[in-house]
Amino acid sequence: MSDHRYAIIGAGPSGLSAARALQKAGIDFDGFEASRGVGGLWDIENPRSTMYDSAHLISSRTTTEFAEFPMRTRADYPSHRELVTYFRDFADHFGLTERFRFDTKVTSLERTEDGGWMLRSGGVAGDAGEPTEQRYDGVILANGTLAEPNVPAFRGEFTGELLHTSAYKSATQLTGKRVLIIGAGNSGCDIAVDAVHHAASVDMSVRRGYYFVPRYLFGKPSDTLNQGRPLPARLKQFVDTRVLRAFTGDPVRFGFPKPDYKIYESHPIVNTLILNHLGQGDLRIVPDIDRFDGRTVCFRDGSSGEYDTVLLATGYKLDYPFVDRSELAWSGMAPRLFLNAFTPSFNGLYVMGMIEASGIGWQGRYEQAELIAAYLVALERHPDRAAAFRTRVTSEPWPDLTGGYHYLGLERMSYYVNKDAYRSAVRAATQALRTDAASRPSRRSRLVRTRAGVPGSGSHAAGKAAEKKVTA
Ligand SMILES: Cc1cc2nc3c(=O)[nH]c(=O)nc-3n(C[C@H](O)[C@H](O)[C@H](O)COP(=O)(O)OP(=O)(O)OC[C@H]3O[C@@H](n4cnc5c(N)ncnc54)[C@H](O)[C@@H]3O)c2cc1C
Repeated sequence: MSDHRYAIIGAGPSGLSAARALQKAGIDFDGFEASRGVGGLWDIENPRSTMYDSAHLISSRTTTEFAEFPMRTRADYPSHRELVTYFRDFADHFGLTERFRFDTKVTSLERTEDGGWMLRSGGVAGDAGEPTEQRYDGVILANGTLAEPNVPAFRGEFTGELLHTSAYKSATQLTGKRVLIIGAGNSGCDIAVDAVHHAASVDMSVRRGYYFVPRYLFGKPSDTLNQGRPLPARLKQFVDTRVLRAFTGDPVRFGFPKPDYKIYESHPIVNTLILNHLGQGDLRIVPDIDRFDGRTVCFRDGSSGEYDTVLLATGYKLDYPFVDRSELAWSGMAPRLFLNAFTPSFNGLYVMGMIEASGIGWQGRYEQAELIAAYLVALERHPDRAAAFRTRVTSEPWPDLTGGYHYLGLERMSYYVNKDAYRSAVRAATQALRTDAASRPSRRSRLVRTRAGVPGSGSHAAGKAAEKKVTA
């Protein structure tokens, strides 16, 4: 076991990935989970869960599961109930459950004078314990990215029921109501499909067009096709646009605007039931919102409708409420982190799961955890490798994680990556940390240093600070 001790915040798929990777690397840790058990948002009973009764995996089982722990189900797209069982089995199987303190919420993280972190936590279940504090050498933040609702400002006031999808649990909430869903992301489309069986009427307001991917193509889960060596972005866009046109037709026929971007430049919607229901006349697509006026919603094209419930499928905001934003180098809507995990100041905070990507799965998150574990191992046993890693991060351009796709410049895309580009960059960095290759400066780094003398002053200071910590 290591001399250092780390904390992991959250026992969802990302926290469990971190726990397993640290366990395998022989690194000591304590886990903290605000809810009653493992599984994160897949446990619908977790007060922070944004799951709903009808939710199933959107990515398919084999592309999503942990490679070392296949799921014991035949379903290609299992339900959240099966998934929470899977995470419990995973945690029990590897002896991770007992490493977490449940019903324990982390309330603050503050730097200690000796370069560590003071973690304060408290019980969440009524009288469950006094607040406690404990020092750690570093902390892995795996508290999830889909819990804090993003609620846009609208002109006017809606006097009916205004809900965010985070508060949606069951279709019975919509029984007999005139429902307007704002936004057509994966959750918005799932809920629309639920709603048509219960609501009095369902409209969906959209700003832009979307690409709809069927769950099955050629009789197989669609995301299992073209695995392995990824096609170049342009070729994949060319081929998949035509395949989708052949299978799902043109969503414009059903009332959606024509997308003003190419496929994969935003998150695709894995749901074609919504198109079936549009074809059956069960719901309508309406334009973007202009303003609310009592129960009336006025749309940008001058039309309007009366509603009982407005459901905001407007996504989520990143939130790390227990630590000062400057510690995570926030830039706009997201922390600016190397490979979405390492703070450029190497201050001992590591972020897990801050990756939005089509098809990254839990294995992708586990590989991210392996990289963090490889760095922590290097800190203790191969400080030269850890120092070389930091030098690269602070003096070289960061890898391009777009995979050649031009992502929409939307706030919600601020931490979006291409899964293949991301996983290959993460694997390369892990490999470098595990071998002496990491301690040899790359050609690019030598060039940067020769030209500039030293790397940029801020980065250099950060590197020095981190070096001090390693040798302490
Ligand atoms: C409807 C729906 C469908 C989805 N489908 C897919 C899919 O098909 N494939 C896919 O890869 N992803 C999917 N996702 C994305 C989902 O976010 C990930 O699968 C996964 O749950 C992310 O894991 P996580 O551990 O990062 O976060 P979470 O699952 O959100 O877990 C975070 C954990 O941290 C805990 N926590 C938070 N704050 C604190 C604190 N202060 N102290 C202690 N504990 C804290 C929470 O209680 C929670 O248990 C879906 C999401 C939704 C909502």
